[in-house]
This record gives sequence, C-alpha cells and structure tokens, in this order.
Amino acid sequence: MGQRNALFLISVVLLLTVGGCRKARGRQEAGKPADVNGTRIAAADSEPGNWMVHGRTYSEQRFSPLKQINDQNVSQLKLAWSYDLDTHRGQEATPLVVDGVMYFTSAWSKVFALDAGTGAVLWSYDPKVPREWGINACCDVVNRGVAAWNGKIYFGTLDGRLIALDAATGKPFWETLTIDRNSRYSITGAPRVVKGKVIIGNGGGEFGVRGYVSAYDCETGKLVWRFYTVPGDPSKPFESPILAQAARSWSGEWWKSGGGGTVWDAVVYDPELDLLYVGTGNGGPWTQKYRSPKGGDNLFTCSIIALRPDTGEYVWHYQEDATDDWDYDSAEQIILADISIESQPRKVLLQAPKNGFFYVIDRSNGTLISAKPFTYINWATGVDMKTGRPLESALARYTGNDPAPVVPGPLGAHSWQPMSYSPLTGLVYIPVNDVGFKYKSAENFEPKKLAANYGIDVVAAGMPQDPKIRKAILDTVKGKLVAWDPLQQKAAWVVERPGPWNGGTLSTAGNLVFEGTAAGNFEAYRAGTGEELWSFAAQTGVIAGPVTYAINGEQYVAVLAGWGGVFPLATGEVSFKSGRVRNISRMLVFKIDGTAALPALPVLQEPTLTPLKNRASVGTIRKGEQLFQRYCAACHGDVAVSGGVLPDLRYSSALENDEWFSDVLGGMLQSDGMVSFAKELSREDAADIRAYVIFRRNQSVTQRQSSAAKN
Ligand code: CA
Repeated sequence: MGQRNALFLISVVLLLTVGGCRKARGRQEAGKPADVNGTRIAAADSEPGNWMVHGRTYSEQRFSPLKQINDQNVSQLKLAWSYDLDTHRGQEATPLVVDGVMYFTSAWSKVFALDAGTGAVLWSYDPKVPREWGINACCDVVNRGVAAWNGKIYFGTLDGRLIALDAATGKPFWETLTIDRNSRYSITGAPRVVKGKVIIGNGGGEFGVRGYVSAYDCETGKLVWRFYTVPGDPSKPFESPILAQAARSWSGEWWKSGGGGTVWDAVVYDPELDLLYVGTGNGGPWTQKYRSPKGGDNLFTCSIIALRPDTGEYVWHYQEDATDDWDYDSAEQIILADISIESQPRKVLLQAPKNGFFYVIDRSNGTLISAKPFTYINWATGVDMKTGRPLESALARYTGNDPAPVVPGPLGAHSWQPMSYSPLTGLVYIPVNDVGFKYKSAENFEPKKLAANYGIDVVAAGMPQDPKIRKAILDTVKGKLVAWDPLQQKAAWVVERPGPWNGGTLSTAGNLVFEGTAAGNFEAYRAGTGEELWSFAAQTGVIAGPVTYAINGEQYVAVLAGWGGVFPLATGEVSFKSGRVRNISRMLVFKIDGTAALPALPVLQEPTLTPLKNRASVGTIRKGEQLFQRYCAACHGDVAVSGGVLPDLRYSSALENDEWFSDVLGGMLQSDGMVSFAKELSREDAADIRAYVIFRRNQSVTQRQSSAAKN
C-alpha cells in the first residue's frame, strides 16, 4: 500500500501541476470528473477506491481488492446514506464511482450523479423516454448502467438512443439514435467504452428484431462500425463476409421476423488480445419452426462472438445453443480470467448463461475447455466436447401434444444478474434461478406489433388453477447463491433461497461475497465457506449488482435496491415464491459504523376483493384468456396475477365500467406506459379480456374463502 500511496501522491502532484488552472475539487483527485481512459482502466487495481467500469475492470470479474471491510468486521457494517429514486420499476444498474462521484441509471433510463461520500445530488438527467415505448421492452423498463470516459458519461435509453453527458454538469454533449424506430428494439444494457469508442447493443429478440452491436466515436457520436449478429435478406448484399456463411445455417424467410440474436448485456474487452467479446440472445421467435422451419444452427444466435474493437471484424464464435427453441440467451455476463488448467496458464472466459451450463472457453480462439451444469437441468445431459454442442434430452424439443416441462425455462438458470469471480478463492459466485417452463408450440403463430411473439402456446404455459398442481409446480421453484469452482466444475458451497431472481454478486479481498435478495435483504457471506456474516433489511427486493469503493481511505459498499424486472412482471404467482416485497427504489450505501437509517416502511392495506357479476360464456372466457396471455401477461402477470410491480387487473375498478375500454383501446393511461391496443384488439376482444379477468377475480375470491375456511 505504501508504494501505491506514493504513486497516488505523485499523480496528484502531476495533475495539479499539469492542469494548473483546474480547480482542485476537494475529492480524491484533482482533474475533471469521470476522467477515465484506457490506461487508467487497464491499471484499475492500482486505484481500488474507484469502480470505473461496469464490472470494475476490463475483465469484469466484479472482484475488489479492498479489504478494510472484511469477514472479521462486516457485522459492524451499517447504512451510511441512502437516496430515494422517483421511479418504481425494476432497478438493475451497477453504479460507477470515479474520484468520489457515483454515476448510475434508474428505471426509464434516468441518470444520477451523487457525491459518493454523502449521497448529495450533483446532477440528474432524464432523457424523457416516451412511456409508450415500454411495450417494446420484454423485461421491464430497466437500465443496467453507464460508462465513463474522458469527462463524459454514456448511457443507452429504452427507446434506443445513445447519449453522452458532460460528467461535470449532466448536460447532453451528443445524442444519437441507434435503432430503427419501426422495429421493436430497446436498450437496457450498459455501454462499454473501448479505445475511444462506445460499444452498445440492444434487445428485442421477443419482438421480431435483428440483433447487432455498434461502436460510436466517443467525441463525435458518429457510427464507427456495426456488426449484425444474424444475416439479413440474402437477396441484398451481406454487411460482412461472415454473414454469407452464417446465412447457410438458416432456412425459410427468417429475415422477415428479424432472427433475434440481440446483444443485450455482455460486452467485454481484452486489451492483451485486443478482442471484444459479445454475447447474443435467443433466436426470434423462440420456437425454431416459426423462425427457420427447416432447421439449421441459426448463427449467430445464442453465441459468444469475438470481434476486433477497431473495425467490428469477426474473429471467432462459439455457439452454446444451436437451433435454440427455449429463449436460452447467451447474452449473460462474460468474465475474463487467467487461470492455470492442468499446470498450463490459460486465458479463459467464463459464462453461466441461461441454459444452465457453466462454460470455460479459451478466449484466444473460442475452444471449449469444459462445460458442466451449475444447477438442475433436464433439457440436456451434457455438452459434447468435440462439437461443443449440447446433448439434448428427449423432452427438450417439446414435440408431443402435451406441454413439455423443460428446466430451465426462459427465465434462465442464470440471467443478467452479474456474477463475480474471486481470484483469491478461485470461485465464481452465481445467482441461480431454478424454475422451469411448460413449452408447447403455438398453433398457427402470427407475429403481432403489440404482443409478445414467442411462438409458443401461451395458454398451455400458464399456471393451472388446480391447487394441487399449482403447489407441485411452486415446490420446484427455487433460487440459490452458488459458489462455483470453474476448474473442478462443481459447487464449493451453496446458499438456498426461497425463490429465484436474487441479486448480482460482488466479491472482495476481505473474504466477502455480497448479494441482495428477492426477499428484501442485502447480505454478506464468507467467500471461502458461504457462512452468513451480515444481513440488512432493505425493505424491497434487491436484484442489481453491488460495488465497493473508498473515499478518503474509508471503504463503502453500495447497491441499488428496487424490485422488478421480468420475473415479478411476467410470472405471476411464481414470483411470490421469492418473497412478496414492494418496490422501494433506492440507492443504499454502507460503511463500518454508518449512522443513517431508513424511514419506516409504510403499512400497506391489502385491498379486499369482492366478486363481480360475469355473464360471459365459457367460450368467451377462453378467448379472453388467450388474448390476455398474449397481450397482457408479460406486464400484468401470468393468468392475471400481478407480481406487485404493475397493477393487478383483478383489483381494477375499470372492470366494472366502460373505463376498461378507454384504458385498453383509448390510450387513457398512455402516459403511464399503457398503450392503446386499438390497432390489434377490437372492442369485443377487450370485452373478452375483461370477462376473463373478472372470471379470475371471482376465482381468486373463492380460493381465498376456501383457504380461510381451512385455516
Ligand atoms: Ca431472450
């Protein structure tokens, strides 16, 4: 540390001398805010008090060398400050901390700069995302963070813009549209800056888009390159030579439905090999027969692709799920590590994608080193080491008449919640989801502009009403924190959770692992053994990735709290397994012997549910169910049970009058994100949906009465 302090002093003196007329800002270092560059990021370990990039270092290990807070004193960790947000949707961002300033995004792509020591607001920026764009987001109106470079803060907006802000003032420096607004793209991922270029992907694989990743010049906002991850219409020239090859792995008229393969989260840079790794999402629609009817591997969906960061030129790829049928994105976080395998030093990348296999891949050439399931799965028995392809089980392809209970489901055995790798323990700390899905192909699937376009039978996938079957399904839904040994390909320890969708992890040199929980806690574990050492009642679900930093030699731990994301939005009753929390969106920051406290949680009155008259026929209710599951369930919850983030329609007063039609067809609630469905739904359709929701309301009243009678 002595040497580091000396270097630090020298750099301060240099900065003060070189930037003579710059005002000292009274923070850790002089100079302009967010003065981040490639040299600084490459040497991030020499300034562990900062968290300058999404995963702290280029390797995105989310491991911090800080150890002032450690397994001996973490029990004294207390709230230092908190900051309440004005959005009440999922909060998924990892904050950056650069020279005493914290930068992060919230739901609806808002950006905040706070004093990292006190929580005082320096500036905030609202890009004013039109709320109606929310219908193009599969998985809540979330945002996972910013990038910092040369005095600017970069972030993507839900409606597809990339914006550069002046880090000192929060004023826009440039703004550019990265998508075609006629297609249902969205941006939720954090940009990364590599060699003066901002790299940004997008999402939309559930809505008929074609995936790509783009690089923009940091200073001018001009597009430098774009790499399409799937081929377009073969009657037109391919954008890159590799796409001509990729087109041979498709059949039918895939370009009409976009193809998918979106780069919605993982983008990692290796400065030594000068390679950029991106992860790609599922093929769209999920069901391959509606995407590429005569089969084919559908390159480069569900893949890791290595590109040259200067040009976007293709170098290699590894496809994890050829012919995806399950929404098994490979867009999840990628960690770079240099580890010794059989006494040989290897440059590897580590990924635990949705499909449930933990992959160790040689990142110089894309060769598979090992792959083993990190939790229970039933869709495959292993990965063929020669071909790198999964060895599928008999039920994987859901070809029978009955829906196939495939594990994992579209939520993934692991999704975007970041994992971390401690080089000290050699373990990867993974937030694991155990939840399957009943897959059955839709009959006569047709993509729609205002609906989710999975290509599967959304009614067959819904939660059945028989209490015994429901209980049996819910019993299988679990979550856990798994400390995975990537060399042995087995768990070193496991912490069981009541349900899935727990938070991202942070590991530190203090022998600690931090993780928030869906049940509303923020916790610390001993990294070597998994012993629980500390827990804080966060009053809400915590799903984002935590960070740690230091101000004036004092270590802090920060996490963005706030329940949401696709799990509580779409899965209805299943999401209650994790803990029925409220969404209280808030930045929480801790230090040893902090003295702040959260305000008391307001008491929530459970509204009563009374039955309503329903004269609709069984046929009408069935039709309403079909439409509800296709158009409404992605936000208001499977079979009309809301997970608590968006309104539960069973309780809606609009069920009783014509306000229902103003809301569903008239766009009355457009400013809240509830668009008009008039272009695709008739008044009769809306009435059928209402009849179904009233049916579900009355069913819920009866179920509550019978369970109350039993108690
Ligand atoms: Ca997906």
